[in-house]
Formats: sequence, structure tokens, C-alpha cells
Amino acid sequence: MTEIHQLDSILADQISAGEVVERPASVVKELVENSIDAGSSQIDIVVEDAGLKSIQVIDNGRGIPVDEIEMAFRRHATSKIASRQDLFQIVTLGFRGEALPSIVSVSDVVMETATEGKPGTKVHLKGGKIIDKQISESRRGTKVRVDNLFFNTPARLKYLSSIQTELSAITDIVNRLALSHTDIAFSLLSNGRELLHTAGNGNLKQVISAIYGINVARQMVFFEQENNDFKVQGYISLPKLTRASRNYMSFLLNGRYVKNNHLSKALVQGYGSKLMVGRYPIAVISLRSDPILVDVNVHPTKQEVKISKEQELCDLLSQSVYQRIAQENLIPDALKNM
Ligand code: ADP
Ligand code: MG
Repeated sequence: MTEIHQLDSILADQISAGEVVERPASVVKELVENSIDAGSSQIDIVVEDAGLKSIQVIDNGRGIPVDEIEMAFRRHATSKIASRQDLFQIVTLGFRGEALPSIVSVSDVVMETATEGKPGTKVHLKGGKIIDKQISESRRGTKVRVDNLFFNTPARLKYLSSIQTELSAITDIVNRLALSHTDIAFSLLSNGRELLHTAGNGNLKQVISAIYGINVARQMVFFEQENNDFKVQGYISLPKLTRASRNYMSFLLNGRYVKNNHLSKALVQGYGSKLMVGRYPIAVISLRSDPILVDVNVHPTKQEVKISKEQELCDLLSQSVYQRIAQENLIPDALKNM
């Protein structure tokens, strides 16, 4: 032990990286969320060996101005919030300014970025340090390539699961980002194989079809309801189409994919006694509220959120699902799909 001293910033970033980048899928999530926040209409994700060899995220968003590049890699540096007030009105997916510094502290990164009509910049970072910076000819947008993830954190590397498990975590997160942003065209390529492709035309049913298959999409029904505080809408499966896992229920709160047991329970409750024990619906549900009702600053990955008036939201969800299912039962089979 030594006397108390301030850790240098790269070491501090490596420590906090543990919370933000647990596995390759977390890198994909953070980079794609940055691309979404940059107003992109197309985002292409390319991974090799489930991201352990490399991860690339290519967008056509607004890019980073040349004089701000170095700042983007510093901890708690963000363009998304400025004041305490903004913290209660978060409308972007990021705001903590932690992702880029965390990722670069545990990998090799090359970023090429350009703003509209300006020459681009290409920077190369190794273990958190900029080792090269050049002007590059780029079109508007940003391309980030991450190699050798966790090269300097051997324990983290050892803890990772098989390539197959890591790849399914990546697919899972990209699917949910595509479901929550139907106006963005996504593609996911893994070792040359296309795992997802969406059109970006705003059609949620088409995205559901791209992810779960056309037969599933055909058997899902739309519902929509609102009260003074919340609007809930989306597609749910009828009770005859179920899965043995809760993983097919997605909740998108103000455009952010969230994990919330109370919402899952409320959805299942809406089916009443129509689901068998251990069976769950397939559902993609968008929830909208004034951002002031949602605290996203609970956990670094921002998938857990605190919702004010959560019970009211759960009741609205259960009731609207219940009514939609009941309504379906009133339509004689012969008239369905006419
Ligand atoms: P946060 O997203 O919380 O602001 P990050 O560390 O993820 O923090 O990113 C830092 C900053 O870098 C962002 O606020 C944004 O200004 C910029 N940035 C990162 N990725 C992109 C991108 N793909 N396109 C444009 N700007 C980006
Ligand atoms: Mg971010």
C-alpha cells in the first residue's frame, strides 16, 4: 500500500469500464446508441468472432467536429446534457459521457468521423491513449472500429462465455435497438453472415417480421391506449402464440429499451388466465411519457429506470392488453384475416 493519491485518468477509466463494458454486446450497445443520438438514418454493425476479434459500427449521423474529437474520449465529456435541469429531461440515449473513454481504455480503437461538408478525421487509440491522428477524406458520419477488446483486462476476457453466447447477446441488443428505432435502417453482419436487415421505413411490423419471422408477425395484433400521463401501443401475440421465455417481451420507454419486471408482470396479467403457466407472450410495446416521469440515471448501462406513477402505467398496460385480447375473441374465426 502507498499513501492516498489520485488515480491517473486511464486507470480510472479502466475501473469504470467494468460497469459500462461487461462484454462485446455492451460495446455494440454503446456505439449504436451514440449513432442513434447522432441522428443517423442508417447504422451498419459488423462483428468478427462475436466482437472478440473486432466490432465495427458505421453510421451516417452528424459526426464529431475536428476540434472536439479528443474531448469525446475524455470521461464525463458529453454533448448531450449541460445543466442539472437537463438531467431530469433526458431525451438522448447517452448523457453520462462514459462509453467512449471506457471502451478505448480496454481495446484498440480507430475512429473516422466527419461533419457535413468538412474534411474528416481519423484517430487511432491504444489502451486509452491517442497514438495517431490524421485528416481523412470521409463522408458525413462516423465509423468506429474496436479491436482486441479486453486485451489488458485478462480476468474479464476469461469470464466471457462462448462465442455463440456472446453473439446471441449482440443479436439480442441490436434487435431491440432496431425495434425501438424503426425509422433507422439497421444491418448486422457476423463473420460475413447477415443476421438482421431492416428498411428504416418506420414500419414496426416489418421489423418484428425481420426479427421473429413473418409467421410470428402475422399472428400479432396492434393495440393502443393513453391516459393523461402515458401512451402505450404496440404489437402483442394472441394467447395461442407463446414462448417459454420472458425474453420475447420488449419494452421501449421513450425510445429506450428497458428491463422492468413490473411491466412484464403487468403485460402477462393482461392475458388473465389465457396463458399456461410458464408461457409468455411475444410483445413489442412502446411506452411514452413526459421524460420528467422517468429517471434513467439509475445504472451505468441505463437499462434499469425508475418510473414515477409506475403503478398507473402498469394498470394502463394490463387493461389495454386485456381489452385487446377480449376484443379479438369477439371476432368470429371466419371473419379474421379478411
Ligand atoms: P455520451 O453518449 O454519454 O455523451 P460517449 O462517451 O458515448 O458519451 O460519447 C461522447 C461524445 O462523443 C458524445 O456526447 C457525442 O458528442 C460524441 N459521439 C460519440 N459517438 C458519436 C457518433 N457516432 N456520432 C457523432 N458523435 C458521437
Ligand atoms: Mg454514448
